[in-house]
Amino acid sequence: CTPGGPKVREENILVTVRMRPLSSKEIAAYDLVAWDITNHTTIVSKNLYHERHGGSYTFDKVFDPTCPTRNVYEEGARDVALSALGGINATIFAYGQTSSGKTFTMRGVAEDAVKDIYKFIKLTPEREFLLKFSALEIYNETVVDLLNRESGPLRLLDDPERGTVVDKLIEEVVKDDQHLRHLISICEAQRQIGETSLNDRSSRSHQIIRLTIESSLREDSGCVKSFLASLNLVDLAGSERATQANTVGTRLKEGSHINRSLLTLTTVIRKLSSGKRSGHIPYRDSKLTRILQTSLGGNARTAIICTISPALSHVEQSRNTLSFATSAK
Ligand code: ADP
Ligand code: MG
Repeated sequence: CTPGGPKVREENILVTVRMRPLSSKEIAAYDLVAWDITNHTTIVSKNLYHERHGGSYTFDKVFDPTCPTRNVYEEGARDVALSALGGINATIFAYGQTSSGKTFTMRGVAEDAVKDIYKFIKLTPEREFLLKFSALEIYNETVVDLLNRESGPLRLLDDPERGTVVDKLIEEVVKDDQHLRHLISICEAQRQIGETSLNDRSSRSHQIIRLTIESSLREDSGCVKSFLASLNLVDLAGSERATQANTVGTRLKEGSHINRSLLTLTTVIRKLSSGKRSGHIPYRDSKLTRILQTSLGGNARTAIICTISPALSHVEQSRNTLSFATSAK
């Protein structure tokens, strides 16, 4: 048999950090850059106090503000994305506080992944591919179909063979790369509609774009090896919703601030990365982790792109993100 999938590096959880440029608003407010990046791997607080208290973080890759999304994709997501072509479930997350660049990053990652997937399909004429697209949003532990918002909250069902499935979620067969881009743009528009009804919706909700990729060798090649896997592109709720500290001294009720799915995901990732794959992993504690269970841990591949603001005014949230990133690698 010819090998089916593309050649990819194998690490179970790939963690990278991306720092966006200062925004024009931050510049206008005389905000300052709080971090130095050295060797594309280490991020160091410019604040001497922090430096003495562990203000230095090292990762496989730290992308500085001048770095285009293409590089972020190539070094922080591509190998994971392409493994789905070879039958290995894959998930790419953007994790970070609101306004740190998650949506900006995932948009570019999705574009590049679409290009790469269709390039591989073109270069692999001996295989027949079937791609299906679905997209959902989790908001307050309620699952909504981004291809059919009117359908209302969707239930999760436990299928003995496929694990957790989202009941009645639309799965569109993808005709070609153009069609796939179109489907992604529909979801983006849908998410923005949700945004106007409650202006911090995107800070509270998770978006999952799921591409199911099935392929088999064409009959005349005399070999019947087939692959089935999904690639999940996940734009998470703002990471400020995973930290307890923020609720202290504010009027926000804990229940409305803390995001169950995000908190559970961080616990699951920490457990997986500390090698506790055999112990209890609380996938079932949230909708997000139930839906992603078969694409996390086990044989699955995960990339987490942690996005941070460079601004001094956001330094505490950036530190929280960097601590999470450290515990995830
Ligand atoms: P989030 O989804 O984390 O809330 P966004 O992706 O919406 O954040 O980014 C906030 C703002 O910063 C947007 O206007 C976005 O275009 C801009 N931005 C984010 N990352 C970058 C980047 N790497 N380069 C340039 N602009 C960026
Ligand atoms: Mg966003």
